[in-house]
Amino acid sequence: MSLSGATIPAPSAGAGPAAARDHLFTARSLDRYRAVLAEGVERVARRVATADRPFTGAGPDDLAPRVAAVDLDRPLGDPGAALDELHDVYLRDAVYFHHPRYLAHLNCPVVIPALLGEAVLSAVNSSMDTWDQSAGGTLVERRLIDWTAGRIGLGPAADGVFTSGGTHSNLQALLLAREETRARAGLRPGPEALSRLRVLTSAAGHFSVQKAARLLGLGPDAVRTVDTDAQRRMPPDALAREIARCRADGLLVMAVVATAGTTDFGSIDPLPQVADICAAAGVWLHVDAAYGCGLLVSPTRRHLLDGIERADSVTVDFHKSFFQPVSSSAVLVRDSRTLRHATWHADYLNPARAVEQRIPNQVDKSLQTTRRFDALKLWLTLRIMGADGVGALFDEVIDRAGEAWHLLDADPRFEVVTRPTLSTLVFRWRPAGLAADLVDDANLYAREALAASGAALVAGTRVDGAHHLKFTLLNPETTGDDVAAVLDLIAEHAGWYARTRTADELTAVG
Ligand SMILES: *Cc1c(COP(=O)(O)O)cnc(C)c1O
Repeated sequence: MSLSGATIPAPSAGAGPAAARDHLFTARSLDRYRAVLAEGVERVARRVATADRPFTGAGPDDLAPRVAAVDLDRPLGDPGAALDELHDVYLRDAVYFHHPRYLAHLNCPVVIPALLGEAVLSAVNSSMDTWDQSAGGTLVERRLIDWTAGRIGLGPAADGVFTSGGTHSNLQALLLAREETRARAGLRPGPEALSRLRVLTSAAGHFSVQKAARLLGLGPDAVRTVDTDAQRRMPPDALAREIARCRADGLLVMAVVATAGTTDFGSIDPLPQVADICAAAGVWLHVDAAYGCGLLVSPTRRHLLDGIERADSVTVDFHKSFFQPVSSSAVLVRDSRTLRHATWHADYLNPARAVEQRIPNQVDKSLQTTRRFDALKLWLTLRIMGADGVGALFDEVIDRAGEAWHLLDADPRFEVVTRPTLSTLVFRWRPAGLAADLVDDANLYAREALAASGAALVAGTRVDGAHHLKFTLLNPETTGDDVAAVLDLIAEHAGWYARTRTADELTAVG
């Protein structure tokens, strides 16, 4: 009996080719398709219905034996049995981002129109590399790229492509920046030229910039970070000084990466001033808006991104602030011609003559070949709930973060680093009169103890060498009461740790 009520047809007898064919998605298997997917949806719904906390607290030692015990060479045949097993190895102990007390990383609850898109796109399974594998899918993706570029204000020559995530978008943007800089400076390809290139970003910039520099063959010191101000933004005068210093050292600044929504602080670099500096210096400006892109649709806060329209390239992560399931990201460029640095023609796939025939092959713009039709999720989201709806959700979590800041700021148990622009809060438990190392360890302990209890999940980071805790609010269902309750739990765990250790130390001395 299936939980969803739809009966899953019994498979053909045996395990041979006939039985295997029953599992192929074809015109002959539509009853099975409907019933099996309905059953999967039902199991997820049941798990979510009973999730009274974001996490069970299971550790790798609890889960590893269960996963290891599955004999992958002995199929169960029956989807219901496989889903029962999946409950034990995954669904029961997964981390649930829809839960209002999940406050850790940049993972959002997802909107149902996007889940609908996910179901459609994986069944049809278009591949976005070429027109002859996607047809209208290519046009849907292109419309969404144009729509996003329009929201940013990149101008009539803009273009871009969907990617797997912000890491990938940043890598592609920096590849284009490297090639444009090299061409403009007349540098021949080779290690000598690469070792002279520098990328400037703030100390709060994303680590994928470092990874991209390594993948792009730049030297180990290629990324120079500019210290941030008290609000964790890149000070324009410090950026200008760093550019001048690079020049004085005979180095070539190939890109400035400004961050519109730093991962830890949600701070937005002063984009208009940074754009002025880049324009004056003739340097490629990349804006990493992986987190802050939700402001593009905010009914009240779009102005926080003013200046982004002057970027040469922009990263947006729809899977962060547009409430889309992983993966959904895009890289946008002001000048579509710069995408040629990602182009390679293969006779069997995207021959050069296809360009003359005006066949739109998205692979010409992408680092990937076979590629998911992730754009469909955003399409259905815009067509069903609309951009203002998405923006209203993001606005709500930003409001909530502002309220949480007031709570923290007024609470003598805690110290909060900066007032949020977006929806993160970095803080620590720090009652008066405790030694710095004890405070450090108590915060570390509180985070782990909270995760082990599963009652709430918060993130951790370091600020000026000291351990801090972080809330990333992306769930409009999280209330002020949730935030207050989690702060009490943190204070309880941290306080218990501090008291216990102090007592131990007194015993040791005594
Ligand atoms: C999350 C994030 C990234 C990386 O994006 P992924 O989708 O995780 O690869 C890049 N930059 C910033 C500012 C981010 O917050």
